[in-house]
Amino acid sequence: MTDIFDVPGWIILSSRLDTGIRTIEAEYAPPLQECTKCGVLGRLYRHGTKVVRYRDSPIQDVHVQLAATVQRYRCRECGGTSLQALAGVDTARRMTQRCIRYIKAHCLRDSFSRLSEKIGCDEKTIRNIAGHYVTELAGSFQVYLPNWLGIDEVYIAGAWRCVLIDIGRNIPIDVLPDRGEHTLADWLHRFDDRSTTHGVVTNMQAPYSQMANALLPAAPVVIDKSHVFQMLNYSVDKAPTRLGEEALRFRQEFYALYDRSKMEVIPALEAWEEAVTSSPLQRYFRELLSALKVWHEQILAYFDHPITHGYTEVLNSMAKELNRAGRGYSFDVQRARLLFSRSAHTSSPTGNSDLALGCSKPTN
Ligand SMILES: [Zn+2]
Repeated sequence: MTDIFDVPGWIILSSRLDTGIRTIEAEYAPPLQECTKCGVLGRLYRHGTKVVRYRDSPIQDVHVQLAATVQRYRCRECGGTSLQALAGVDTARRMTQRCIRYIKAHCLRDSFSRLSEKIGCDEKTIRNIAGHYVTELAGSFQVYLPNWLGIDEVYIAGAWRCVLIDIGRNIPIDVLPDRGEHTLADWLHRFDDRSTTHGVVTNMQAPYSQMANALLPAAPVVIDKSHVFQMLNYSVDKAPTRLGEEALRFRQEFYALYDRSKMEVIPALEAWEEAVTSSPLQRYFRELLSALKVWHEQILAYFDHPITHGYTEVLNSMAKELNRAGRGYSFDVQRARLLFSRSAHTSSPTGNSDLALGCSKPTN
């Protein structure tokens, strides 16, 4: 138990456990040399002590506090009093630095309220430390343009945000504060050389494909099949019960189209559209039929580049992560949870050269 504080200079005097809280009494050996009021050296004399409590990182489910006996000094020169300077503690936060490290290591995974309960401090302190940490991580975060770029959106902290996905690696690479075209354009403009991107996978939001066409002109735009299926399911769900069987049949036929080659799918899709258009279900499938016209080229581009497998996986895992974390977190924190929680725990957030390269092949 004596090694618990792990910072040289500290002497553990005692350690006791009562009613769920462990108190470590300790003192710090190195004396203060310089007056904190006038800065003069070697003119201090001891002037009593004071016990200051610092919150420490928990051990299992036990709260830990450091009760430090701190030396007070008076200055012969200016008469002012100073407190001993302590290593390993954050005096402003009344916390050991080890506890702050603990919060940083857990705040992107655990909820702030649970973390505050575990440590025994208030939630505001956690939010504050996490906020600084997120800014720190965001500052050292390097974005890159992947070979296959996914552009989609997720609902975070009360608004829709644009998500950029590395399709080859199935990871989100950035989350933008909104889904406006200027925000996306600014993001793409950060890369001088955009020729490394082979293609863009996106949903049926016009601004995304427009931006992709304008700023990544050589990259084909592929509509992710899950978005097409979503529209299909929406149509089927709207169909009245008496036409339910026929609606289900149209759905099965449509799914089956995605097993075909591009050569086969073009006439088959046309036949499917004709069959739906001439059926009483036409009005329920109107949106899908219209999307199939407007996004014809991009929807068919899937058959040249059937790479959307990881894409929906990323979106689903992001949704899961957001649900798990719970509501009430700022956009910055949620963004950090999505982007940094993986790297923050496996490697240093700054030295992520592996991520910065981003030269991966799309998975077919
Ligand atoms: Zn002084």
